[in-house]
Amino acid sequence: MNCFMCKGNLEEKEVNYIVDLEQTIIIIKGVPAKVCSQCGEQYFDDETAENIEKIVNKLKELATEVTIVNYKEKVA
Ligand SMILES: [Zn+2]
Repeated sequence: MNCFMCKGNLEEKEVNYIVDLEQTIIIIKGVPAKVCSQCGEQYFDDETAENIEKIVNKLKELATEVTIVNYKEKVA
């Protein structure tokens, strides 16, 4: 699999996923992703994207200013 943007090589990495909502900013640390070594574009597989959505849906109701969570702790 190569980058859709620039056809560069993708590397398996852990990234910080940041969601900027009106009430709160949610930062999910250590999310497994494929990252393009050329342009930095990030790709998540279906399962990871689903997990991210679940985490965000739960946390956005807390409405603290900034919420930082660890991906592995939330998914395990
Ligand atoms: Zn790229």
